[in-house]
Amino acid sequence: MDLIDNYTRYHASKLHGLRITSSHIQSLISELDSDVFNTVVVGYSEEMRPVYRISIGNGSRKILLWSQMHGDESTATKSIFDLFTYVNVNKFTNVINNLLHSCTIYFIPILNPDGAERYTRENCKGLDLNRDAKTLLNSESRILQEQIEIINPDFAFNLHDQTAWYNVDQTDHVATISLLAPAADEERTLTESRKKAMSVIVTMNEVLQSIIPNKVGRYNDSFCDSCFGDRIQSFGIPTILIECGYFPDDEEREVTRKLHTIVLLQSLISISSDNFPNYHDYFKIPVNEKRFYDLKIKNVSYNGVLTEVGVRFKRIFSESEQKLLKIIDETETISGNELNDKLFHREIDANGTDFNNFC
Ligand SMILES: [Zn+2]
Repeated sequence: MDLIDNYTRYHASKLHGLRITSSHIQSLISELDSDVFNTVVVGYSEEMRPVYRISIGNGSRKILLWSQMHGDESTATKSIFDLFTYVNVNKFTNVINNLLHSCTIYFIPILNPDGAERYTRENCKGLDLNRDAKTLLNSESRILQEQIEIINPDFAFNLHDQTAWYNVDQTDHVATISLLAPAADEERTLTESRKKAMSVIVTMNEVLQSIIPNKVGRYNDSFCDSCFGDRIQSFGIPTILIECGYFPDDEEREVTRKLHTIVLLQSLISISSDNFPNYHDYFKIPVNEKRFYDLKIKNVSYNGVLTEVGVRFKRIFSESEQKLLKIIDETETISGNELNDKLFHREIDANGTDFNNFC
């Protein structure tokens, strides 16, 4: 795939770092070629920031994708703009020409611009939009619901980031990308729409395994009727969840961004070329576990005892410094025997230093 070999050519380098806001994407949107990209504002957030929808193609098969429903999950937003560059450069190739003539693809990058501004999962009211699919209490959720009704897509893609703490079941591999065909009901019935989503995921997994073998996980499929992905699946629309995760030493998720761009392109090509393999191989993708910690601190004094401590970090946006701060999430700290079955991205030796010196 040309995108794999020549990715740097398509990398939208103006978007970098973990905090991506509406103002970051505005200048890129204004530079899009209006012969290929059709941009509209489909609504405004609770704090009146615009929510954009950019579409490509004019085919009868409709695909709807949205990113940053959780404001601090920006990897997919960046890869959407990489994909735009790829489509524009390659629009006269057979594959992309076919894509643009067989499908109309609608992208909503940054569904939650207020959360993106604050670098929070939730919106400005502190509410999780992905638990608002039934109640529709928030402007941003109503925008998404309205777009689903207007477009009535043949496929939907719900694009997220997951923490660095997931490993692929029974292995010490981090889950760099996780995939899911969300359940449509409590019984997790294999509905026709779910099977179709699984089939597309099979093609995505195939490409990923060739690049990052054993680093692809299957996300938990317990049914959540207030979550958008599950709810849309229950409407009979094949829905795919992609969770961008961590790749070793890739704090800014630039490796994952590239992988996500590749896998998005693969999924769109599969749909546009009617490549729907048997869904059974979906179940061969191992499920996720959550056994990773960011750091193991050995020989550290913790609550007066010399022991080992496992920590997980979180990032918060400092308004005054206008940057992200990486701090220890104290609710996740473990020590002693609790470390036994855990995995660690990094290890350091504290040589007896008190744990509080790390906080
Ligand atoms: Zn999310």
